[in-house]
Formats: sequence, C-alpha cells, structure tokens
Amino acid sequence: MTRDASPPPTRPVLATLPAYRAGRLPEPVPGLTAYKISSNENPYPPLPGVLAAVHAAAERMNRYPDMANTALRTALSNYLGVPMEMIACGTGSVAVLGHIIDAMCDAGDEVIYAWRSFEAYPIAIALAGAFSVQVPLTPDHRHDLHAMAASITETTKVILVCTPNNPTGTIVTDTELRDFLAVVPPRVLVVIDEAYLEFGTDPEAPDALAILRDHPNVVVLRTFSKAYGLAGLRVGYAVAHPDIAEALRMTATPFGVNLVAQEAAIASLAARDDLQVRVKELVAERDRVEAALAEQGWVLPPSQANFVWFPLGEQTPDFAAACEEQALTVRPYASDGVRATIGESAACERLLEITAAWRARAATEEVEPAAAVPGP
Ligand SMILES: *Cc1c(COP(=O)(O)O)cnc(C)c1O
Repeated sequence: MTRDASPPPTRPVLATLPAYRAGRLPEPVPGLTAYKISSNENPYPPLPGVLAAVHAAAERMNRYPDMANTALRTALSNYLGVPMEMIACGTGSVAVLGHIIDAMCDAGDEVIYAWRSFEAYPIAIALAGAFSVQVPLTPDHRHDLHAMAASITETTKVILVCTPNNPTGTIVTDTELRDFLAVVPPRVLVVIDEAYLEFGTDPEAPDALAILRDHPNVVVLRTFSKAYGLAGLRVGYAVAHPDIAEALRMTATPFGVNLVAQEAAIASLAARDDLQVRVKELVAERDRVEAALAEQGWVLPPSQANFVWFPLGEQTPDFAAACEEQALTVRPYASDGVRATIGESAACERLLEITAAWRARAATEEVEPAAAVPGP
C-alpha cells in the first residue's frame, strides 16, 4: 500500500453512527474475580443436548448450511404453533431487524421507536438510509405509546416496540399494545421486539403471537441469545405475515445462519424443560436483587428482563467507575443510567455491595453540603 494514497470515501452516514460499544471484561483487580454484567448474557453453560448437536454439525462444516433454515423453521413452527411460512431467521435478531428495515424502508422513510431503547435500532435505521424518530420514554421509564402514535406521518414505515424494554426492563401491556395497534394505520409495520420475553412474569405482558393473528402489520422478533444462552452462535427469528416473512428471507444475508447455529437452536428448543428451570432461577435471582435494592433505598423501575436499570442521570459514569474498581463491568448509558445484568450469583452479590456503599456515601454527601451552608 502506498503511503500517500487515500482509499475511496465511505458513505457520510457512517460518521454519524452512534458507537455500538460492546461489553468487555473489566481491568483485573487483585483478589477479585472479574465479571462482565454489561451485555445481558446468560451465565449458564449450553442446555443439555446442545453441545452434542454442535459437535455433530461441526463435522459437516465443508457444506453450506440450509439457506431456507428448513429444520429450524419446522421446529419453531411446532414450538410456536404457527406455519413455517410465517418464520424468517437471521444471525441474531439484530440482523433480522436489519432485514426488516431493508424490506420496508426507502431512503428518507421514518422509523419510530422509544428512547432510550436498544442501541442497535438507530444504527440499523441509519444504515438503510431511513430516518429515526425517537419518542422519549415516560418518567416511569416506559414506552409512551400515545406519543408514538401521534408521531406517525405519511412517511412512517416501521414502529419498533421493545418489550421488555432494553435497557429499562419495563413492558407495554397487552391492552396498551392492542389499543395502540387500533390507531396505527395498517400500512405501518409494528415490530414487537421480545428479546427478553422468557424472563417476564407479569400476566399483563402482551401475547404477541395472538396479536399478530389479529394484525397482519405486526412482526414478532425473538432471539436465542438471551434466555437460551446462544449469544455466541447468532440466531434470531421473526414471526410475521407470510408475505412479510418472505420479504425478510429475501433481504437476509444468504446462508447467514450457519449450520452449527441452526442445530444448536433446534437442540435448545428440544430442551425446553431445562430452559424453564434456568429461567426460573434467573427470575428468582432478579427478584432477590430487586428486593435487596429496594431495601437499600433504591427506587428502580420493575424489571421483566434479565437486568436491572439504575436511572442515575449525571452520576452514571461515577457509578460505572465504582463498579469497575470492584472488577464488575456494567453498562453505562451517557447521562441516563446504568444497566446491570442478572448473571452469576457472585456478580449479583458484588453489585449489591457496591450499591449499598453508594447509598451510604450518597446519604453522607446529602448531609454534608447542608451542614456546610453558612447560616443566614
Ligand atoms: C439482545 C437483544 C436482541 C438480540 O440480539 P441478537 O442479535 O439476537 O443477539 C434484540 N433486541 C434487544 C432489545 C436486545 O436487547
């Protein structure tokens, strides 16, 4: 490569993309095991039967995978009780989201979503040349569906509803979602991103597949990355009207979901009883952490996911640094707050120690400035 030659310029939009900051292991602290609770990963090893399926599939790696994901879509079809024509797969549901935007949006079209929400949304939208319309969450960290409906214009093509919402853990209810869909024009596609569905216990949570039966403009987005613990293999899927699902298969990367991932997902679906046990344990741990935090005096939005949200505002970087000092990586979001995954029990314990110390310090600092104020 000659030193003075410049490569061709890339698209200007690339310079405007928000940085997607992947979680990383914290700096080592002597005497402490490091934990990364910044990416909502599952702390469990693969479900029973999955490693054997992975080994067997790996022996065939000289072959292309089934581009149509036939066996996986058949397994999903049986599991979900929907025809396989309604299912489209991708390399994680982030990729499927990209296929949705690519299938629906021309340059300049609008995509509405709540903010703060999943950080992959603005990137997928900008890369497609579409336009993000971000609608602020309510003060209690929930989707403002009324404001989102009011933001619909002639050029709105897609609306993203993340429930439970990443990073705040809140849900929209079934009633709220149905009322919302009643006022959304049928020409607008509404994506229900249920990446954390399995961790939900609220009976008011949406029955998204039932909603899809009533509304052909709905897409349900799910993943094997979180509850199923296959984040490293990259498999997600959409359930949609057959015409939409076909469009998503057209915009997908050909042979995207590799054969190891396809087999691992099928084996994971077969291990649903073991999955339930793990999910129950993680949910119990989440509830225990939330109760302990409430006991410490924290007022946090109730989480229906495998993480908790600390709306710390300007204190966000300091809190993240306090965690880092204890070899715990959490996920800070600018001046909004910190998201912490419910992972290993030891990580939860350490988080609770840090939050207790933080509360204690905050309490003394609240007293000190007042004491320092000179009298009238
Ligand atoms: C983690 C997550 C996903 C899933 O990502 P994958 O690409 O399937 O690993 C999708 N949506 C939200 C909101 C998430 O937090």
